[in-house]
Amino acid sequence: MSKPKIVVLGAGYAGMMTTKKLTQKLAPEEAEIVLVNKHNYHYQTTWLHEVAAGTINHNQARIMISDVISPNRVRLIYDEVQEVKKDENKVILANSEISYDYLVISLGFVTNTFGIKGMEENAFFIQDIDGCQLIRDHIEYQFAKYKNDPDAKDSDLNILVGGGGFTGIELVGELAERVPQLCKKYDIDRRKARIINVEAAPSILPVFDKDLVSYAKSSLEKRGVEFRIGAKITECTKEGFIVGDDSELIEAGTVIWTGGVTGNPVLSKSGFELTKGKVTVNGDLRAPGEDNIFILGDCAWVMNEADGRPFPPTAQSAMQHADTCANNIKAVMYGQPTEKFVFHDKGTVASLGVTDGIGTILNGTNLAGKPAAAMKKVVDNRYLFLLGGPKLFLKKGKVRPF
Ligand code: FAD
Ligand code: NAD
Repeated sequence: MSKPKIVVLGAGYAGMMTTKKLTQKLAPEEAEIVLVNKHNYHYQTTWLHEVAAGTINHNQARIMISDVISPNRVRLIYDEVQEVKKDENKVILANSEISYDYLVISLGFVTNTFGIKGMEENAFFIQDIDGCQLIRDHIEYQFAKYKNDPDAKDSDLNILVGGGGFTGIELVGELAERVPQLCKKYDIDRRKARIINVEAAPSILPVFDKDLVSYAKSSLEKRGVEFRIGAKITECTKEGFIVGDDSELIEAGTVIWTGGVTGNPVLSKSGFELTKGKVTVNGDLRAPGEDNIFILGDCAWVMNEADGRPFPPTAQSAMQHADTCANNIKAVMYGQPTEKFVFHDKGTVASLGVTDGIGTILNGTNLAGKPAAAMKKVVDNRYLFLLGGPKLFLKKGKVRPF
């Protein structure tokens, strides 16, 4: 009898860790494992704001998949997933197709523009590594142009960030590091290059308590970040954001939208029933009505029964999904009962630049400043260690001293 084929779609946190766990839990003769990803590399989504600001090199955030997953054990396919044909147990890729016995969909998120006019066309997104490299280059281009083009305006130096959630705030934290370096490099007065964060809600980062939020805001303001809080962006044009009831235009040479995320569009193309772009999974992370399809990471809507809301989409959750999923695939293969996903909250930390941050850890302890920034680096390095052991940590880890 031929061995079952397990196909994992997407090599992000959920896909990489599921693949790795499957290779540990199943012997080569028990199952064939296939990992499909758009690129031959995995990237640290949680570092994309640093790539976009230019505070780390994009290569630091990029890990060749074959460096951590052995191609002798796992068939690696670098291709783009177009659609899952559930009724035929088949995945359509851009250049071929592949059948499966068990499928793991871990294709991550895409930026959600909520249909705001002009956003798709005129704003940059923090979505993947190539897009973030473009942001870094575009920002630097604006500085070089300002110095060399007599028609350049002061507002060309402005960087607008729409959305004051985690991504927007972590991004302005990095920009507060990078912009002074660019001003020095191009001999431009720092006060001319404005970093402006626009948030519709009454507060940035509402998941943290008021003291931490006020620490974050004042720390960023001290480093030159301006906030427009309670200002809803209604349109994005080539010139900048249109904001508020009086349709004020805030002009900028660089416009970045970080207003929210949703599940990968492959889910809707494949006919899954969706809740805000994601699949509401069963307790064991299977798609409803599908015995052999697991949905993980930012593609999954996983309810927190304790408070009746979904868990936020995080790398922390995605990695925990991977554990449950690998156990459950083995259980289903051998006709055993599956386990229920239980989230173990290890806390939340947001960086505010290289040496600053805020966070709430395990026992509800609040952290601000260097201890929070150090904790964020511990979390980042822990992941590298879990994925690729000491070798990967030494190669890609964040070991810069404060
Ligand atoms: P992803 O990590 O997004 O991976 C998806 C993979 O699928 C990628 O490799 C992609 O190339 C591939 N893919 C996508 N579409 C296709 C296709 N059609 N065909 C083939 N391959 C495809 N969470 C935390 O817990 N802590 C943090 O500090 C944190 N910081 C963050 C900072 C930023 C700037 C951002 C944007 C997010 C952050 N998050 C953080 C959230 C976290 O990154 C996501 O929740 C996490 O990446 C989800 O993991 P995933 O495996 O579902 O998807
Ligand atoms: P988010 O949904 O958390 O924040 C988006 C922000 O944009 C919100 O504050 C929202 O009010 C604002 N917004 C939306 N529409 C707007 C409009 N029209 N005008 C002005 N503001 C508007 O999205 P995100 O920051 O991209 O984060 C996505 C997920 O990724 C989060 O749920 C988070 O869990 C995760 N994440 C975690 C970390 C971390 O743990 N350090 C870092 C980044 C992202």
